[in-house]
Amino acid sequence: MHELSIVEALIEQVGREVKRAGLAGKIHRVELSVGRFSGVNPGCLQFAFNLLTEKTPLEKTEIVIHEPKAVCRCQRCNARIEVDEFVAQCPECGSPEVILEGGRDLTLQSIDVEES
Ligand SMILES: [Zn+2]
Repeated sequence: MHELSIVEALIEQVGREVKRAGLAGKIHRVELSVGRFSGVNPGCLQFAFNLLTEKTPLEKTEIVIHEPKAVCRCQRCNARIEVDEFVAQCPECGSPEVILEGGRDLTLQSIDVEES
């Protein structure tokens, strides 16, 4: 399950961000955005997060996972269409010259810190 290493990196990133911002409170909530084609299963991510944060300061942190739609951009007809699934052809004109945007990234969107 590669979600474990993703979450390890994420926890590190959260720690760094919080430190850089000079925040000291409890981390209330972490919001993530996971692309639909990133190969990451949000359920596994959640599970890995709970597992890895056990008995750490992040134990009670809520993790919110967003799954934004990917956008298919057609080189031929310039259509920009939101898609749920991987497409190899433009849904408008059927051209195979399509670029999928925003489906592969995993980004840390926000960290909510409770003021202590
Ligand atoms: Zn097209």
